[in-house]
Amino acid sequence: MFRGKTDYMREIAQVLRQNDIKTATGPMPGGGWETQAWLAVASHQTDEAKRLYEQYLDDMVARSGQRSTDKHADFDAPETECPACGTKFQTANATRCPDCGLNFGG
Ligand SMILES: [Zn+2]
Repeated sequence: MFRGKTDYMREIAQVLRQNDIKTATGPMPGGGWETQAWLAVASHQTDEAKRLYEQYLDDMVARSGQRSTDKHADFDAPETECPACGTKFQTANATRCPDCGLNFGG
């Protein structure tokens, strides 16, 4: 099961469906300052879903220079925000988001 910003979860769900993976999504209970959603797949498809998800996020990072509305992770700052799930984390020695596993190519 994945969780993150609703818009991203919708995009991920679309990617997974294109790869014949059934998905279920819904809002996170008690969503705070921004709308968060969860996304679930059948247990036997979890590994494939994770692979597609990471691939999608890697592609997204690669494209992020062309996507004007995307935030990016600022590794010059001591703390930065994951562009995919919005999690704040320390940049020291970090190459992946501790929450969603987004690879920053480090
Ligand atoms: Zn993340």
